[in-house]
Amino acid sequence: MTSTEKKAPSKKEESVFDWLKTLPPREGNIFFSLCEGGKKTVNKSKLKEALFDSGLQINDFRLRSFFEKLDRHRSNDIEFEDFNSIIKAGGLLIEKALRGELAVPDFRDFSINLDKIYDEIRPNRSGDLAKYIPPLAEVDPEQFGIAVVTTDGQIYQRGDSDVDFSIQSMCKVFNYSIVVENLGLDKVNRHVGAEPSGRQFDDLTLMVKGMGGSSLNPNNQIPFNPMVNAGAIMTTGLINPKNSTGQRLDYIREQFGRIVGWNAMETSGIKRPRFNKNMARQENFKGYNNIATGFLLMATGNIPHSDSLLPEDAHEDKEYEYDFYIEPAVTNALKVYFSICSLEMTAKDIAMGAATLANGGVCPITQDRVLSQSTVRNVLPVVQMAGMYNSSGKFFQEIGLPSKSGVGGGILLIVPQLMGICIFSPRLDSVGNSVRGLEVARKITQKYLVHLFDGTMTDTNRIDPKVPISKWRASSCGEAIWAASNGDVRSLERLTSQQRDLQAGDYDIRTPLHLASAEGQTEVVKYLLNNGVQPIPDRWGGYPISDAKDNGHNEIVELFTKLDVNYSEPVHLVEDPDGETDEMATFDNEMMVIELLFAAFENDVPGIRQLVARSIPVHAGDYDLRTALHLASAEGSLQAVKYLIEHGHPLNVRDRWGATPLDEAKREKRDSVIKYLSSLKK
Ligand code: GLU
Repeated sequence: MTSTEKKAPSKKEESVFDWLKTLPPREGNIFFSLCEGGKKTVNKSKLKEALFDSGLQINDFRLRSFFEKLDRHRSNDIEFEDFNSIIKAGGLLIEKALRGELAVPDFRDFSINLDKIYDEIRPNRSGDLAKYIPPLAEVDPEQFGIAVVTTDGQIYQRGDSDVDFSIQSMCKVFNYSIVVENLGLDKVNRHVGAEPSGRQFDDLTLMVKGMGGSSLNPNNQIPFNPMVNAGAIMTTGLINPKNSTGQRLDYIREQFGRIVGWNAMETSGIKRPRFNKNMARQENFKGYNNIATGFLLMATGNIPHSDSLLPEDAHEDKEYEYDFYIEPAVTNALKVYFSICSLEMTAKDIAMGAATLANGGVCPITQDRVLSQSTVRNVLPVVQMAGMYNSSGKFFQEIGLPSKSGVGGGILLIVPQLMGICIFSPRLDSVGNSVRGLEVARKITQKYLVHLFDGTMTDTNRIDPKVPISKWRASSCGEAIWAASNGDVRSLERLTSQQRDLQAGDYDIRTPLHLASAEGQTEVVKYLLNNGVQPIPDRWGGYPISDAKDNGHNEIVELFTKLDVNYSEPVHLVEDPDGETDEMATFDNEMMVIELLFAAFENDVPGIRQLVARSIPVHAGDYDLRTALHLASAEGSLQAVKYLIEHGHPLNVRDRWGATPLDEAKREKRDSVIKYLSSLKK
C-alpha cells in the first residue's frame, strides 16, 4: 500500500484528518469519501447513488442482504460503525465498487458513451427482417436494445434490452460450450471441426471438412465448425442422445439458464430461456435445408445411430409394403436443434451469458462455475473465427472480438476477462447480421481498446475501459512528464519506442519539455528537441524557455533561443504573494496525484471520491505544486471545489508561481467559484 503523509494545514482541516486517523484505514477512507457537507455521517441515498453509478443494481442477487440491512437502518444518516457493518454485508464487492476497482471502474462514463452510441445508431433503419421462418417476419422491426454485463456483474441496459427475442443461431455458442464441457474436446473434435468455412451458414457443402470423404470412406467427413448449421445440428445430436427430446430440451434450457444466471433455487431473479413452440414448428415445417443437412450428417456416420439392427417390419404379409425407416437420431437432433433456436431470451440475459464466457465460465452474478476454464478457452476461438456467418473473418479483423449473431437480430460479443455485450435489433444485412448490431459493435471498438489485438496506450484517442478515465488521461502524459522532470532519458526512450506522444500536455498543458526546463534537465531537453518535440505554450501562455529562465538554467535557455519560435510570456495572477500559505500533502504515488488532478479538472466528483476512498489526500500536489483545488477552481468546477473543501482541502496552497486556487478562479473569471471560495476566506 502507498504510504501517505498528511500535513494538516489549518485548525478546521486538522480536525477532519485527525478524526480520519482514528478510523481503520481501508474502511475509514471509504466512509470519509462518502461524507458530505462536512458531516461525519454518510447519507443512505448517497451511498446507493454511488453504487448505482458504479453499475451495480438494486436487484443484484449478491447484494440482497446488503440492501436489506441498509434499508433496515433507522436513520438516513449512517455513522461509521453502522456503515462498516452494513458494507460488510456486501462483502468485497461493495468496497471494490466504492474504490473504483470493478471491471469497468468508470462505469458512469462508460454508460454515457454507450447512450451516445445508442442514440447515434437508432435512426438507422436499413436492412430487412429474416422472413424464412414466418414468426421472425412478424416482429417489430423498430426494436433496439443494448445490454452489457461485466465480469464483476456491473450492468448497462438501454432500449429494448428486457424484451424476449428469438436467439436463433446464438444458441450455437452455448450449445457448443455444453457439449465440450460434457464430452471433452477430443471426443467433440471427432464430430465437428474447428475450421472456418467461408460459406453460408446453411450451405450443404459445410458437411465436408477434409477432402476425400466419400461413401466408401465416410468417417473423415465432419462439419467445418459448430457455428454453422451442420456443426450445430451435430453438436445438438451429441447432447444426451439416449433421452427423449423433451428431456433433452429441458436439460439444455437448464444449462443455458445457468450460463445466463438462472439458479436452481430460483433466487437470482433470472429465468431459464423461454421455449417458443410455434417458432420451432414453423421452422421445422419448411426447414428442408436443415433436414437435408441432418441426413447428410447421418450419412457420414457421425451422428450416433439409434439402432444397430433393423427393427421388425410390421408389413411382412404384404408384397409391396414395408415400414419406411427414418433414423430417429436425425429427426431428434433436428427437433432439438429447431427447439433451441426458437428459445427466447432478453439482450440482458444474453449479455450475462457472454459475460460468463468472458469470466472464464463463472456466471458473474450467481458465481456458479457453469463451464471449466478450458472449455471456455476451447470454445472462444471457434466463436471468434466463425460466429459472424461468412463475414466472420472481416468482422474479426475490424472488431476483433469473439461474436455470434442470429437471424432473430441479436449479436453477442465477448470481451475476454472484461464483459459480455448483446445488441438486439431485428433488421439484418444480406449475410444475416443485425445492421444496428454491427454498427454498435463498430462504434464500441472505435471508442474503446477492446479489439483482442489492440496495443495499449499508443492510441490516446481511444479509451481502455479497464482503467478509470482520469487514470487513462494521467497515463497518457504523466509518465513522460515525471520522467522529464527527473532527468530520466531512458524512460523517455522507452516511451518513444511505444509511440507515445512526448508533446502531450497535462490539465495545464504542461509538457515534458516544460518540466525538463524548469528542473534543469538539459539532456532531456536535448533528447526531446532531437526527437522533433516542439515547445508549446501552457495554460498561462508560458513556453519552456520561461521555465528555464525563471529557474536560472541558462544552457537550456540557449537551446530554445536557437529555435525559430516566437515565445510569449506567461500571465500568472498572484494577488497577495505574501499572504497566508497552506501546506499541501505529499503522496508517493505520483501517477495517482496526476489522476486526482485530472478528475478535478473534469469536475468528475465520483472519480475524486473513488480516489479519496483509495486514501489519497485531497491536497496532494504535482510537479508544479498544483493541487486538485487549483484545477477545479481554474476550470470553474464548483461541485469538485465543494467536494474538495468538504474533504479538508486547504484554501491557500500555492503553485510553482505562487498562485492560490482563488487566484486561479479569478484569472479564469470563474464567478461561482470566486464567490464560494471568497465566502470561506471571511
Ligand atoms: N434456426 C435458424 C436456421 O437454422 C438459425 C439461423 C441463424 O440464426 O443463423 O436456419
